[in-house]
Amino acid sequence: MGEMVTWTDAEVIAAFPNASVDQDNVAHYRGRLTHKLLVHCCRECGWWHEPPRPVCAKCWSDRVEAREVRGSGRIALLTVLRVGSPASGVDYDAGYPLAAVELVEQAGLRFTAGVVGDPAGVRIGTKVELIWIERDGKPVPAFQQADDEG
Ligand SMILES: [Zn+2]
Repeated sequence: MGEMVTWTDAEVIAAFPNASVDQDNVAHYRGRLTHKLLVHCCRECGWWHEPPRPVCAKCWSDRVEAREVRGSGRIALLTVLRVGSPASGVDYDAGYPLAAVELVEQAGLRFTAGVVGDPAGVRIGTKVELIWIERDGKPVPAFQQADDEG
């Protein structure tokens, strides 16, 4: 393991005043503070689920934990935002793609975030990778087209 993360729940909640941080997703938001994308995974059966819930969707175990994902995947659904709160690298005038990305960890496991960079080549099926941008001075997960996209 790397360095220990020391933020308390209260500190994580205070760090994201515009998010609905609760008991289920506080671990995810704590991960954001160290640029780790954490998704809930079942310790009994290994099933990933997003958004985070206190019980496994597959085997109903409550032994779920937030684990880091690679952040690689392909765009499964795509919406283009024209308005939103300011963030680094985001140009709403050009249209900011919001994508549900199917992560490589599991078929059907999707994490929704913005896609930065030139929106021209962004479409369903585009291979993307995780990057971090800042909004209100706090890390926000986003995706960009993967380098090895042919
Ligand atoms: Zn399970």
